[in-house]
Amino acid sequence: MNFADLSPTLARALAEHEYSEPTPVQAAVLAKASGGRDALVSAQTGSGKTVAYGLAMATDLLDANGAMRASTAPLALVIAPTRELAIQVERELRWLYQYAGARIVSCVGGMDPKVERRKLLDGVQIVVGTPGRLRDHIERRALDISCLAAVVLDEADEMLDLGFREDLEFILEATPKERRTLMFSATIPKGIAALARSYQRDALRIDVAGGERGHADIEYRAIRVAPRETEHAVVNLLRFVEAPAAIVFCNTREASRHLQATLQERGFSSVLLSGELSQHERNLSLQALRDGRARVCVATDVAARGLDLPNLDLVIHAELPHDAEALQHRSGRTGRAGRKGVSAILVPAIRRRRVDMMLRDLGVRAIWSGPPTAEEIRKLDRERMLRDPLLTDTPADEEIETARQLLGHHTAEQLGAALVRVWRARLPALEDVTDPGAEPAFREGREPREARDAPPRTFKPQRERSAGGAGVWFRLDIGRTRNADPKWLLPMLCRKGGVTKPDIGAIRIFDNETKFEISESVAGLFAKNMAKPGGENIRVERLGASADSQPVEKKPKKNKPKYIAKADRTPGQP
Ligand code: AMP
Repeated sequence: MNFADLSPTLARALAEHEYSEPTPVQAAVLAKASGGRDALVSAQTGSGKTVAYGLAMATDLLDANGAMRASTAPLALVIAPTRELAIQVERELRWLYQYAGARIVSCVGGMDPKVERRKLLDGVQIVVGTPGRLRDHIERRALDISCLAAVVLDEADEMLDLGFREDLEFILEATPKERRTLMFSATIPKGIAALARSYQRDALRIDVAGGERGHADIEYRAIRVAPRETEHAVVNLLRFVEAPAAIVFCNTREASRHLQATLQERGFSSVLLSGELSQHERNLSLQALRDGRARVCVATDVAARGLDLPNLDLVIHAELPHDAEALQHRSGRTGRAGRKGVSAILVPAIRRRRVDMMLRDLGVRAIWSGPPTAEEIRKLDRERMLRDPLLTDTPADEEIETARQLLGHHTAEQLGAALVRVWRARLPALEDVTDPGAEPAFREGREPREARDAPPRTFKPQRERSAGGAGVWFRLDIGRTRNADPKWLLPMLCRKGGVTKPDIGAIRIFDNETKFEISESVAGLFAKNMAKPGGENIRVERLGASADSQPVEKKPKKNKPKYIAKADRTPGQP
């Protein structure tokens, strides 16, 4: 099926958006699932899957003339893992369904639930949201799901990873049985297959991922860095690639805040995107990137999934992602919709083996090098200056007149030199960097002696957000080996323990266990709630009254904590 064969309201919106051809996932969905069947689709982000399900839903939403069917309650529900993704989906569906006259609302954590409630009660046809907030609206009867004809699960694997299974099951149980269910997921692990078996009927299986886990349009670069030169390497990389937009990933809020402040100071127009910002501030950051007011976004993994930013040609991993999947999702912010992109991983010697393994897991080859040097960038600057439209554009008459006057007073060389100074003045200064590649420790991927002897890197929990002074330590019988990650631990502890995020202080993740701090004032309640049966099969035990009395790990080397930090906030959590 071609776009021209679609309902006239959708075809018009697509044509105005200059989408002439369906992407492979759109073509596959239109060919197979436009007739109203359930579908389980594996497709990468960046493949055009939002428009794909937007079009697939049309059968359930539009009448013969392409207008929205009359209904007293919402007809379609799209569930996405993160707030940013949900808002992005809302924007995409808004233009796609503009001529059908659809009323669309997003319901996401961090935004005012009263405003959402009002819009829901005013009457909408399409609702997009994060699982926790949607469940909340259903439970409070603001969201009427009795007329739902279609439910879409976007990035379903990520929703399970983030611990949203219970919320998803609640929503799917509550919606009408005869609804249509479309599930989109980058991968189809067992959990997704099980969800599909329980909640889909006779579903079509569409696979456009083609089994390829890496992104063909992304060039991976592994950049050897000396431990103290990470920021310098980021500065030089941003200057070297000169992407219209770039994203720099850090692992914690503190690290990202610090790096963003440094880059801003150095003259890069930059914004921050992390869980410590309100949703409104996060939206403003994204808007600044979208309209070109900012060139660099420093982010934690809240930005790693699904986000689609125009002209984002460079991703820098200033700190290593936790695993190959996180590397893939962060990198997938670039190389979208046929555009080429670079994903640069900064690799201190001590991490070389891990990076090698992650790249192997992803099935991608990286080009290894040191960071771009100041000399290399200066050379590039000269070439870029020669091509600058400032010099190549046809000058206006008045400009030629002024140039002649200047030539009457100064030589051509003087004028040229002045132009060079002005041109360079607007560029952030370059850094002197070294390539530690020649060091034996790096070549062998061994830990250098000073790194072995150094205490583990410690990010202190934010003072204002620590667990209310003296916290009580708890232990969880899940660690690194079972993918413990604050991204899903934090919402799970809040939900099961009946506490809020500010009540949770430091989280320390070891190989086989995780220790975390709960504000003393709610520790009793938390312990009681966690002891209640049901939900996740996770054991929690109380350890002691303060961080100082927390038992010391017996195997410090191997079982070093992954975080000694206030973990970043989970994106989709209200
Ligand atoms: P998604 O996978 O939904 O995040 O989409 C990735 C990007 O592809 C977005 O910028 C879409 O707007 C763009 N896109 C989707 N469908 C098409 C199409 N048929 N032609 C051109 N661009 C598209």
